[in-house]
Amino acid sequence: MSELIEGLVISHLGQGIAVEHGDKIVLCQTLRRLETVAVGDRVLWTQSSPDQGRIEEIQPRRSLLMRPSRNGKTRPVAANIDTVFVVFAVEPYCDFLLIDQYLAICENRNIDAALVLNKTDLAQSAGIEQELLDYTNLGYALYRVSAAKSSGLDELKRALKDQVSILAGQSGVGKSSLTNAIIPDKELKTNTISATTKHGRHTTTAATLYHMAEGGDLIDSPGVAIFGLAGLTEQQLAYGYREFQPLIDKCQFKDCRHLVDKGCAVRAAAENRDISMTRYQRFLKLREKMPTSYA
Ligand code: GDP
Ligand code: ZN
Repeated sequence: MSELIEGLVISHLGQGIAVEHGDKIVLCQTLRRLETVAVGDRVLWTQSSPDQGRIEEIQPRRSLLMRPSRNGKTRPVAANIDTVFVVFAVEPYCDFLLIDQYLAICENRNIDAALVLNKTDLAQSAGIEQELLDYTNLGYALYRVSAAKSSGLDELKRALKDQVSILAGQSGVGKSSLTNAIIPDKELKTNTISATTKHGRHTTTAATLYHMAEGGDLIDSPGVAIFGLAGLTEQQLAYGYREFQPLIDKCQFKDCRHLVDKGCAVRAAAENRDISMTRYQRFLKLREKMPTSYA
């Protein structure tokens, strides 16, 4: 067998997968069982022609983000992410349910999460201080930025340094604007990927990993705005509300669902305002939205 070479998956292209090794990029095919290869994966590949290869093996992952696919199964979005930066804004509107959902996924998938409030140039941004406090009280880092006014970006860039990150958030909150501000030579880089892999056309919706000039990698996944609950169980959703974690063991019944159950320590804490009632109510809403098969 030919020599196994280490590489990093930087993009999914129409006809293959762009794998970077050193300063080169090759277009790789995968074995069927490796269909689950994700951007950010460290792989071992073999050369089949000067600029083409085949992925033979995926190296163990630190973390894996999944998304639901059409057939009801989940598909990998990105691998080896250290931190998800959840981007939100007062325009189109603040979807705190979606934010909680991302945070719950991260909590369960061994990924750090941080919050990025974009469009702080809009005056309505002042109206959500209580919700923001709920998050910062739980230890979530919050970056206040405006892609339009280029404010707060240096601090955000410092936070992105020396790790692998992804921006998540609903459409219209400014993820692409922020990505373009963080990676000014983005277009040049995607053109390089297309040119070096020749046969692989880079589409604008392809998830792509970019190395930042300051150090650290940013995975841009424009086609994947929402991860959904990505297969979380009811128990995992509760665990995903990090303030519930020390309470869950204190519920009277082992199988407590934290709804109206007798002796529920989580509900009692919310009623006492020891934890945020708004977050608890959002947990109840997300629970309701869960497919019953997850329960
Ligand atoms: P995405 O869908 O999350 O990638 O969002 P875009 O980056 O495409 O931005 C959506 C809209 O919000 C565009 O019209 C942007 O011009 C606008 N936008 C982005 N950042 C800001 C900002 O900081 N302030 C304001 N006022 N508008 C912004
Ligand atoms: Zn309970």
